[in-house]
Amino acid sequence: MLHLSSVSTGGEAPRHVKVLILGAGPAGLAAALYAARAELQPVVLTGTQLGGQAALTHTIENYPGFPDGVGGAELGDLFQRQAERFGATVEFDTAHSVDLAQRPFRVQTDNGEYRAETLIIATGASPNHLKVPGEAELTGRGVSYCATCDGWFFKDKQVVVVGGGDSALEEGLFLTRYATSVTIVHRRETLRAGAILQKRAFAHPKIRFIWNTIVTEILGKEAVEAVRLKNVQTGEETVFPTDGVFIFIGHTPNTHMFVGQLEMENGYIKVDSRMHTSIPGVFAAGEAADPHFRQVITSAGMGAAAAMEATRFLAELSK
Ligand SMILES: Cc1cc2nc3c(=O)[nH]c(=O)nc-3n(C[C@H](O)[C@H](O)[C@H](O)COP(=O)(O)OP(=O)(O)OC[C@H]3O[C@@H](n4cnc5c(N)ncnc54)[C@H](O)[C@@H]3O)c2cc1C
Repeated sequence: MLHLSSVSTGGEAPRHVKVLILGAGPAGLAAALYAARAELQPVVLTGTQLGGQAALTHTIENYPGFPDGVGGAELGDLFQRQAERFGATVEFDTAHSVDLAQRPFRVQTDNGEYRAETLIIATGASPNHLKVPGEAELTGRGVSYCATCDGWFFKDKQVVVVGGGDSALEEGLFLTRYATSVTIVHRRETLRAGAILQKRAFAHPKIRFIWNTIVTEILGKEAVEAVRLKNVQTGEETVFPTDGVFIFIGHTPNTHMFVGQLEMENGYIKVDSRMHTSIPGVFAAGEAADPHFRQVITSAGMGAAAAMEATRFLAELSK
């Protein structure tokens, strides 16, 4: 179980820190470990998802050191405990605006204000929505973006999974534990997911695929009852009964707060090979700055690199 180690700023005078880390996913917590071991007493703001997206998935099988896999939430907890052991502080708080015009950088949060000598942005990404009628209304009533969180509610029921990447297949396979059938609706006729996942999904007796098809509406009064599907090749529309809709169609980086202050590309913060952003003293790591790899190990690696560079930056200043 993930846990919090200390109280928030509670609307008091701005709190001055050497290293402020926005985000407590793999990137933020790895940065916290490295900054803590450099004795910089980093403070990590968790946002709403302690452990990040990794904590949303049931099992992670591709993080080295865990030959039998590790629970996503468990891995986040281990990251957190390791960082705290060396002096990192994890605060349940969310940043809502930043002023990067001068150092110390100012960060306004739900609970107060921080002044940070260096800032590591590790705000990750959030799941994309289909943006179809019924989706918002039925979220939490059959529409979900997290199989680990909500899979259990679909015991002995039928579910639809939307998407064709790793997450869609991983989570679809996980849902077979509960659901009687998992129908994966994909807008193309080939999958983006890795070969091992594809093999497992094709071989699974509970999984079936509907190709070249999009969901145009989610139907239901109190809860999801069906989805309206459209074949993108023929234009044919059908209504497909289901109890749940799990949506895994990619992510958008959580970087809107930095627009106009940092150089960005397609919503991702631009960093060089050492995680430096366009402002000295501000570093970015993980999915907020990575349109390519988007894995726990790569995000954690970027977080570690960002903290090492923040350490170097502070050391140069004090020379
Ligand atoms: C369903 C699913 C399954 C996955 N399976 C795997 C897998 O098997 N293997 C693998 O390697 N990867 C997997 N991934 C991808 C992996 O989880 C991500 O690549 C990784 O979590 C990215 O780490 P991150 O730290 O950059 O960002 P995130 O994990 O997105 O964490 C972002 C953090 O920032 C916080 N935050 C956001 N906004 C603010 C704010 N304004 N102020 C403060 N904090 C903020 C959030 O609360 C969160 O703590 C999966 C992802 C999903 C969604």
